[in-house]
Amino acid sequence: MKRTVDFKKNATNIFFHILTQCNLKCRHCYINPSQHGTKTLGKEEIYDWLKFFSDKNKEANVIFLGGEPTLNPDLSYGIKKAGELGYSSITIDTNGYLFNDILNKIKPSEVDFISFSLDGASPETNDPIRGKGVFDTCTKGIKNAVDKGFTTSLIYTVSSENIHELENMYDLVKDLGISRFFIQVIGIRGSADKKGSSLQLTKELWENTVPDIADKIAKDHKIIVTYPKVFLNEGEKFECAGLVADNYFLFPNNRIYKCPLCEDYPIHSYEFKKDHLEKNSGITESSLFDLDIPEGCVLNKIIQPGNLSYDKEGRPFYKIACCMLKEEISYL
Ligand code: SF4
Ligand code: SF4
Repeated sequence: MKRTVDFKKNATNIFFHILTQCNLKCRHCYINPSQHGTKTLGKEEIYDWLKFFSDKNKEANVIFLGGEPTLNPDLSYGIKKAGELGYSSITIDTNGYLFNDILNKIKPSEVDFISFSLDGASPETNDPIRGKGVFDTCTKGIKNAVDKGFTTSLIYTVSSENIHELENMYDLVKDLGISRFFIQVIGIRGSADKKGSSLQLTKELWENTVPDIADKIAKDHKIIVTYPKVFLNEGEKFECAGLVADNYFLFPNNRIYKCPLCEDYPIHSYEFKKDHLEKNSGITESSLFDLDIPEGCVLNKIIQPGNLSYDKEGRPFYKIACCMLKEEISYL
C-alpha cells in the first residue's frame, strides 16, 4: 500500500549535525564547511541542543548526522541523553565506518535505527561515488550492526550516475537484513553543485523507475520503503514544510535551517544561543517559503531547476513537491 506521508504538525524533527568532519569525500556530499564550520560539538553543547528541542509538548525525533557522526566521540553520550530526554525516535545516519566502537558503546534498545548510506549495489557503482573500498566497509558495518541486534535502514541517493543499479538493491537489501529502505533523490548542494543538473533525473525516468522498484522491495521483503514525491501531478496539493512542519536542521556553528535546500547559503532562519533560538532578521529562507509560484517549491526553482520543464508558453508542465514530502510503501 502506498501513501503520501503528510507533514506531522504535532512533532518536532531535528536533523542534528554534531560535526562536519568526515573520513570520506563523496561526490555529492552536501556538507559545506565554508557555511557550517569545522567544529565538533562536545557533551555540553549536544545536551543543550537536545534539551532545548525536547522542551515541547509534542513528540520529538532526532537524527544524528555529520559529516560522519560516529567520528564524534560524544555520539554515544548524545544517544543516551536523547533517550533520557524522552525523544520518541533516535536515529544515526552513518557512512558505515562506525568509528569510536559505537556498536559496543550503545545498546540496540537505545536507538531506533542505524541508517547506512550506499549509492550502488556493487563496488563498481558505489565506490566511484563514495570512495574506494567504501562498499565493502559499509556492507560489513551493516552486517555487524544486524548481528548485534540493531535495527538498520539503508539510504540510496539516486542520481543519473546510479539509477541503473537501483533494481539490484532488491537482493542486497534482503541479504543484508535491512529493516527499512529509503530512496533519496540527489540534491544539488555542496559538492554535487559542481556537477550541476547533469546528476538530476527527468520526471519520466524517475516515475518509470523508482515507484516500481520501491513497491517490489516493499512487497516481497515486507519492509517499509520510502522515497520522495519530487514531482506533483495535476491536482496534487503543494505544501511547504518550512511553513507547516517543525523541522530543524542544526549545524555545529549554531545555524538552524528550516529547509535543507538552503544549507549552502547564509539564509538560515535561526541561530542557537545556548537556551533559546534567535530569529535572524532581513531576508532569510523563511521569507521565501510562502512565495506562490507555478513551479511549486521556490527553492527548487532557485537552486536546482534542472528537474523542471516548460511548454512553449513558458508554463511549467508540473510542480516540484517539497523535498520533505515522502511516499511510503508498506505491506506490513
Ligand atoms: S556524503 Fe556523508 S559520508 Fe559522504 S563525505 Fe559527505 S558527510 Fe561524508
Ligand atoms: S524544499 Fe521547498 S517546499 Fe520544502 S521546505 Fe524547502 S522551500 Fe519549502
